[in-house]
Amino acid sequence: MLVLLDRDGVINHDRPDSIKNPDEFVMIDGSAKAIARLNAARHQVAIITNQSIIGRGTIDRAMLDRIHEKMTAALSREKASIDRLYFCPDAPWEATDRRKPGPGMLREALSDFSASASQTPFIGDNITDMQAALKAGCPRILVRTGKGADIQASGKLADVLPVKIHENLSDAVADLLGDVG
Ligand SMILES: [Mg+2]
Repeated sequence: MLVLLDRDGVINHDRPDSIKNPDEFVMIDGSAKAIARLNAARHQVAIITNQSIIGRGTIDRAMLDRIHEKMTAALSREKASIDRLYFCPDAPWEATDRRKPGPGMLREALSDFSASASQTPFIGDNITDMQAALKAGCPRILVRTGKGADIQASGKLADVLPVKIHENLSDAVADLLGDVG
């Protein structure tokens, strides 16, 4: 199975002003171990992340790469790895359909991995993740980390149901892998 993950608020703690350098990239407890469990169960894992911080001119591609080097290092300490990372640099005012809530990046991933949308869950913390997943035909999982708890309380999920809700990535992965209890 291919599992698609949002980055900020799912794997790492989000910040209101975005992640601008490696120091600001802090993993959420248990997220690396959760990804390691997916790897060990031979599932493929891809990240689908909006990074309008590039299109806005706040950071450049080289800095995004440095941030992702920190993520890769943190993952590898837990024997976890990401098979592919998709990011969208578009600023909101010039967004293509790759920018979530557009389904573009999800469709790219489904094509690259020859995966069936209905068998490919997308785990995110924002309503735009759920909207993108709905448009791409992917099952939707909301984690309550990041913006997730606020999104759950907002009532916005009514338009993108069904949505499974979990406390964090660790719980979401446990459910996907069929853990009992
Ligand atoms: Mg997010």
